[in-house]
Amino acid sequence: MQSALESAEKSARSSGATQIHLIRLRVGAMTGVVPDALQFAFEVVRSGTLAANARLEVETIPATCWCAGCQREFVTEDYVFECPDCHQLSGTLRRGRELELASLEVS
Ligand SMILES: [Zn+2]
Repeated sequence: MQSALESAEKSARSSGATQIHLIRLRVGAMTGVVPDALQFAFEVVRSGTLAANARLEVETIPATCWCAGCQREFVTEDYVFECPDCHQLSGTLRRGRELELASLEVS
């Protein structure tokens, strides 16, 4: 959360903003990050920053794998990356490891 906040402040400053109103984060399901825990961490680290009064929104990205056999993507709910069609195990996780800034509202 600390580093996400730092990059939010950096990008707010570079656009000349003095306050961050809203931070949207994109969090992959495979990061193991719990949105509630993120909210809590945010409330701890935001004081004294440009985001002292900001809200945090967390967008969860489902884990998405690629099946080379079927040439398709599939979403997995657990940690078993098995293609629902051909039941091959996929080693390619396309999405789900993100922990990044989606957008900011500043002024
Ligand atoms: Zn398949």
